[in-house]
Amino acid sequence: MSGAASAVTVLRGATVVTMDQQRRVLRDADVVIREGLIAEVAEGRSTILGEVVDATEWIVIPGFVDTHRHTWQSAIRHTYGDADPLSYFREVLAGAGTHYLPEDVYAGTLLGAVSALSAGTTTLFDWAHIQNSPAHADAGIAALTEAGIRGILGHGWPLTATGEWTDDSVLKHPRDVERLAATTAGSPLLQLALAARGPEMASAEVWHDEIARARDLGIRVSVHVGAYRHNAAARAVAQYHRAGLLGQDMTFVHCSNTSTEELSMIADAGATVSLGVHCELNARGIGDIPLDRLLSVGIRPSLSGDTETKCSGDMFTQMRSLFGYYRSWVGGGHSSVAEPHQLTLHDVLEFATLQGARAVGLDDVIGSITPGKSADMVCIRATDLNLAPVSDPVAAVVLGAHEGNVDTVFVAGRRVKSGGRMVHADTGRVVADARASQSRLAALGVGR
Ligand SMILES: [Zn+2]
Repeated sequence: MSGAASAVTVLRGATVVTMDQQRRVLRDADVVIREGLIAEVAEGRSTILGEVVDATEWIVIPGFVDTHRHTWQSAIRHTYGDADPLSYFREVLAGAGTHYLPEDVYAGTLLGAVSALSAGTTTLFDWAHIQNSPAHADAGIAALTEAGIRGILGHGWPLTATGEWTDDSVLKHPRDVERLAATTAGSPLLQLALAARGPEMASAEVWHDEIARARDLGIRVSVHVGAYRHNAAARAVAQYHRAGLLGQDMTFVHCSNTSTEELSMIADAGATVSLGVHCELNARGIGDIPLDRLLSVGIRPSLSGDTETKCSGDMFTQMRSLFGYYRSWVGGGHSSVAEPHQLTLHDVLEFATLQGARAVGLDDVIGSITPGKSADMVCIRATDLNLAPVSDPVAAVVLGAHEGNVDTVFVAGRRVKSGGRMVHADTGRVVADARASQSRLAALGVGR
């Protein structure tokens, strides 16, 4: 099989978890890919002719959508798992990040994006608060493009040691976002968004301006709110609400300590939420994951890998962690909600796919296996030792599957992984570049 998209491909005899509105799970179904789109999902045999791929051993799901990943940090992954969370802010954001060269952004982002694809994440919101120069933005875009992932560059701010961009900042969002809006316009797989500092980091004039700039450019806004208790004191969501700025083009990351009143404001505005589950569990001081409160106000969140310095970025881990957390903690009575919603495995898979698509504004393009949508799909080997024999494919995916079971990955109909191997990226070079960057950053004190 080649990595290029042939005109018509028929995945024959698959188990298909559609994540469509009826949540249909089809057995022995054909999925037809034509010119990058899903042309047909047939119960039984399709009559459309094309290259036939035997999918009888596969569970086919929509590609995962990771709605918040600081991908530039991938080359220094797993360095802060044991550390005090504050040391990450001091040593990575106010330390090494200030010394990142464009080539470090490129190497980290490429590694993060390629490894995301290998684990079935076909869309990645790259939360890039590493805009030390325009060349840093270009390096991130080059890496996302080269990886072949559907990418959203969340354009942030420059990192400095002195806090002028993050401590009640009076500096407006870097103007480079306007250049990028022009250079990314019309790109088939890459979009631009504004990674905002918001009321927790910036002065009122600045956070008003962030929203105005994004809306002028027609791009979405993502902002961290309420991660730690001291963050929540700013009542960022309430401030946006009072200013009349809340909108469905906004995604709020974490919300762990955000008040339930504010979560209702997010719900009323039709805005979305991203839970960086594994990092939220791992980082001491981040409050309880607010899934019970989100569901109680009608918000169905998306999921994200956040920073690989403290957690695993893959979406299997996010799903499994969230399900276990909810069953154990909320199910164990540790909830401020009187009658917390029951959580099902299908719900969790929906968060990782369809709700992710909503949170990046692409739910008419991706997020379910539906005719007319883009062919962004993940084929999981149901015959592997840790999954077989499959009785419930959704349970198998959420409870049991991992990157090693991901046989084939399509992005817009193009095979980026096939037969369990990355066929688009030169993984040897990706890792070598990341290792060189890691060495350089280690010399600056990161990860020692
Ligand atoms: Zn984050």
